[in-house]
Amino acid sequence: MESHVTSKVYHVIQEISAPGGIRSITPGFVARMLQLDPQTVFEAMVKLTDLGFLGQQLHIMCPFCANALDDQRLDLGKTITCAVCGKTFVVSTENIYMRFSYVPEKKHLVYPW
Ligand SMILES: [Zn+2]
Repeated sequence: MESHVTSKVYHVIQEISAPGGIRSITPGFVARMLQLDPQTVFEAMVKLTDLGFLGQQLHIMCPFCANALDDQRLDLGKTITCAVCGKTFVVSTENIYMRFSYVPEKKHLVYPW
């Protein structure tokens, strides 16, 4: 993945998660804002999480009942069953959410890429 993509994704997340902004975002949402491939954005968000720039882990949300499936691996294309409502769905960039998108005290650090 090219590093400028990661940088773009980080900047967008900073903007839309500003105080008063939205509290959860999907890779698909960010991808539409940047007109990028959702999978590329997903990988950038995972990278940012690994690097500690994003405050919380990504998690999967059931599209039927909004239950957060924190114990599930983020395997795109995998079919999983919601423990709450019992429905099955395919993990995609539209149902992986990140709450509280970045670590504010790190926003002025020099990017490692
Ligand atoms: Zn459910």
